[in-house]
Amino acid sequence: METGLKNKTVLITAASLGIGKAIAEAFASEGCNVAISSRSKDNLLSTAKEIKLKYDFEPFWSVCDLNKNKDIENTYTAVTEQFSSVDILVNNCGGPVTGMFQELDEKDWDNAYDQVLKSAVRLSKLVLPDMMRNHWGRILNITSISVKQPVDNLVLSNSLRAGLTGMAKSLSNEVAKYNITVNNVAPGMTLTRRLYELAVVEAKQKKKSHEEILVEMAKKVPMNRLGRPEEIASVVLFLASSQSSYVTGNTIQVDGGYIRSLY
Ligand code: NAD
Repeated sequence: METGLKNKTVLITAASLGIGKAIAEAFASEGCNVAISSRSKDNLLSTAKEIKLKYDFEPFWSVCDLNKNKDIENTYTAVTEQFSSVDILVNNCGGPVTGMFQELDEKDWDNAYDQVLKSAVRLSKLVLPDMMRNHWGRILNITSISVKQPVDNLVLSNSLRAGLTGMAKSLSNEVAKYNITVNNVAPGMTLTRRLYELAVVEAKQKKKSHEEILVEMAKKVPMNRLGRPEEIASVVLFLASSQSSYVTGNTIQVDGGYIRSLY
């Protein structure tokens, strides 16, 4: 499949592990100029090294805590000094803290807002002027199946990702005339550090082992297994490619059939 992605510049945030890292690898395999960011320099260095070994291309990296506006601005400046503009922005982030409504305080809400919604707003604002000038661009947000069906004990994720989905839909309408598409990819239960951490929390509550919880999770999926980060990445790649030129304002869930509703 011709993707039209060679030499495009892509910035992926929270990309040192899990889904973000798999997305970075997918774009590297297409010959893109890949820029990755995350909080930990050590993790970024080891991810960049791994990608270089596999694809003979060393991604550009920049330390960026998505809760800090200065980090976001510095990362955007560093990436555009290196590659001139960002063609594809993948707004990925760490998952917000778990908890039920009554357990969370205002600071938790503020942090989750900064991390999930405001970081995507800030980065989208920074990349849009160049995308509009170039009359081409892709903005992709990694959300969650919680936008279709809220997940127990994850009220912050359930609330903020729904907000991000609303923002993306509005933005997609505003920028469609510039040939810029805005879409969301909603992962189902995907085997990464995040899912492991969620399994540990649930295991404590249910007095079971986290291994048992992971098996129970997989049993809830019609495909009878958990997802792999690469399976999320390949849908992101499609939505960034020239093959998806008429797809915008959408959420595509990648969940092995977990969500049972029609839409
Ligand atoms: P992960 O925990 O494996 O990786 C998260 C990445 O985010 C890491 O690189 C981490 O360093 C980075 N990160 C965390 N906080 C950050 C911050 N403040 N600033 C910058 N980087 C930060 O998680 P994952 O499973 O790859 O998930 C990626 C996203 O997809 C998360 O938002 C998660 O909630 C969501 N999601 C995951 C699943 C799943 O089952 N794994 C399901 C639905 C949604």
